[in-house]
Amino acid sequence: MSIATAERLKKLQPSATLAMDAKAKALKASGVDVLSLSVGEPDFDTPDHIKEAAISAIRNGFTKYTAVDGIPALKQAIQEKFQRDNALNYTLGEIIVSCGAKQAVANALAALLNPGDEVIIPAPYWVSYPDMTLLAEGTPRFIYTDQQQNFKISAAQLKAAITPKTRVLILNSPSNPTGMIYTRQELSALAEVLLEHPEIIILSDDIYEHLIWSDGESFANLPMVCEDLKARTVLINGASKSYAMTGWRIGYAAGPSEIIQQMKTIQSQTTSNPNSIAQMAAVAAISGPQDSIAVMNKAFRERHDYLVAALNRLPGVHCIKAQGAFYLLPDFSAWLKDHPQIGSDLNLADALLSQAAVATIAGTPFGIADHLRLSFVSSMETLKKAMERLEQFLKT
Ligand code: PMP
Ligand code: GLU
Repeated sequence: MSIATAERLKKLQPSATLAMDAKAKALKASGVDVLSLSVGEPDFDTPDHIKEAAISAIRNGFTKYTAVDGIPALKQAIQEKFQRDNALNYTLGEIIVSCGAKQAVANALAALLNPGDEVIIPAPYWVSYPDMTLLAEGTPRFIYTDQQQNFKISAAQLKAAITPKTRVLILNSPSNPTGMIYTRQELSALAEVLLEHPEIIILSDDIYEHLIWSDGESFANLPMVCEDLKARTVLINGASKSYAMTGWRIGYAAGPSEIIQQMKTIQSQTTSNPNSIAQMAAVAAISGPQDSIAVMNKAFRERHDYLVAALNRLPGVHCIKAQGAFYLLPDFSAWLKDHPQIGSDLNLADALLSQAAVATIAGTPFGIADHLRLSFVSSMETLKKAMERLEQFLKT
């Protein structure tokens, strides 16, 4: 018997990042020495003071349902974080804690979109934005960029992409999968276009805010450079990347209370509150010592510098430098042209895994063909071994 599932799922794909991670882990479990440059999660351990806060929460019996939108202590910590890091003021009613930034993005889109509403998504993009848009019955509208423009959209491109149906713009800086950062100047130029379109809501995914390791670069988002946009921006952030807490599932959003309260309604009917113990840990993460971030950033920078140089020595590969997060998006188009039997970045990623035991992710699910996304979330030793295997594969 074949069981029919919902029509709206016909357009949906499973997450390519999580699918590749599962494939690599299965191969590893079967005994193959897989080197993983695929899924985007810091290889560092969650800092001890954060773990201790969680252990205390368990011991103290903090193990029951909490408020749907997060415990007051965590919402206050988030409120203070926005004042401390971004000079932005939010009331507690303008903040919601979710099960990861992923849920926060999905809730925001579900709260905002009517069928057919358009969501502008700069490409390359994080794999989940288009599918979350489709799940909320919206229509993704991509703005394509390439290496020449550092994978960043211009004000002119944004202007040209806006239609009467545009409802949301998603901006992600530092970016997954490019590692690029929008400067204040670039954001101001985008803000000027957005000021002419008061109907557009901005979803600013700032999850990599603290992972900026390039000299002279600093973080900014649209409401930080243009105060007038704050009233229609939803900021997305979370504990996963900054504090090596991907498994704890704590993300959050801040924005206009009308939107945040609807996100809360959705959450109250789907998942209820985020994990109570993880919320206590997140208070310690956000309010406690921040020095673990600098330790990670130092390592990310070293790995980045090594990888860019190593990739650019490979035949038919070209890679530009990134500034933040832990991703590189090298261009393999020249190599692929010389090797028509491989045919595509999707086949290249598959062949690399099956023949060289190196896990990467094809560019296509990120909206850019002929590229691979490499996450540098493994030790230098692993990265060096991976580059040796990649070189051998590409040359033979
Ligand atoms: N946004 C971006 C751009 C990401 O790369 C990720 C990584 N998973 C997320 C959101 C979601 O993060 P999480 O759900 O782990 O908080
Ligand atoms: N964001 C990470 C990645 O891109 C984690 C997996 C996911 O949620 O997509 O690899």
